[in-house]
Amino acid sequence: MNVTLSVNEVVEMVDMPAWAVALSGLGVLREDEPMSRHTTLAVGGPARWFFRPANRDALMSAMAAVPADIEILPLGRGSNMLVPDGGFNGLVIDLAELNELSVNGCSVSAGAGTRMSRFARQCADQGLSGCEFMATVPGDIGGGVAMNAGCFAQQVSDSLVRIDVVLRSGELEEINAADLQLVYRHATLPAQSLVVAATFTLHPDSPEQIRERMRTMRSRRSATQPLTQPNCGSVFKNPQGDHAARLIEAAGLKGLQIGGARISSQHANFIVNEGEASSADIVDLIHRAQRVVEEEFDIKLEPEVRLVGEWL
Ligand SMILES: Cc1cc2nc3c(=O)[nH]c(=O)nc-3n(C[C@H](O)[C@H](O)[C@H](O)COP(=O)(O)OP(=O)(O)OC[C@H]3O[C@@H](n4cnc5c(N)ncnc54)[C@H](O)[C@@H]3O)c2cc1C
Repeated sequence: MNVTLSVNEVVEMVDMPAWAVALSGLGVLREDEPMSRHTTLAVGGPARWFFRPANRDALMSAMAAVPADIEILPLGRGSNMLVPDGGFNGLVIDLAELNELSVNGCSVSAGAGTRMSRFARQCADQGLSGCEFMATVPGDIGGGVAMNAGCFAQQVSDSLVRIDVVLRSGELEEINAADLQLVYRHATLPAQSLVVAATFTLHPDSPEQIRERMRTMRSRRSATQPLTQPNCGSVFKNPQGDHAARLIEAAGLKGLQIGGARISSQHANFIVNEGEASSADIVDLIHRAQRVVEEEFDIKLEPEVRLVGEWL
């Protein structure tokens, strides 16, 4: 591959560690990239390093080159991620380019960077049912697996068969879904690994009926959730036998604002960025909701949104 660099780019690279120079030849590499550009909450300080590998092979070579003391953070669409205002002092790896999708009978395989909505649309076109919910979740397949995403009585673990992961060493490993201990909004992945692809088995149904179910799910969502403002979906997991939204509302916290962040007046398990929110505002609201709900109901709400990086 012939790459032409400007004088400024050459000067910048002189200051880079050798592993970063290697990564810049394997995809897009940026320094101090604002994470507010990559999260649906539109908050978060800079990633010290931000890398978007050109393809799977590039990712494997990159992982082999990155020193073990550099912390990595896999990134999908950032729709379930809260990054501190101080940023992430490691390497964010954006898997957007790994977005191939293939259908073979009832088996559908997709790269980690495939949007779940695109996956759902393809399945509907092929008359394959089981992942309709994905039409309404704004993340990628990799993030969906990592979170065992779900709603409307469907979740990733219902139809996931196996995944491919790239380990911290750069090696590729295939893992059966049964070995991921998939539970409500959680998958157990090897430490510091990245999901690069996932295979699902679905079942045949009429494309029109599948699309109709997707339409119903979408309209139920837009009627009940604040989808026009930056948010991360449900902030807390639902405790056994109850709903986080009900508890937060019953505690009188619906509509509460701290700085630029607010507990949505439409859905109490959503926090919205009113425009100028900081990550600290959002975390303050999370802690306030946890404290008040625990005092009132003796229930400790557990965040579903992933607080990544270091929080004071
Ligand atoms: C409006 C809205 C509605 C939502 N509704 C739902 C819903 O109904 N149900 C639901 O479950 N979620 C919902 N969410 C949350 C979110 O969309 C899901 O959790 C989704 O699966 C996250 O995908 P992502 O690609 O955005 O992941 P990210 O937010 O980018 O990452 C989430 C976590 O997964 C890790 N991760 C991401 N990609 C990989 C990878 N390739 N390999 C290893 N780890 C990885 C990240 O490091 C991080 O810890 C909603 C969010 C929004 C904004």
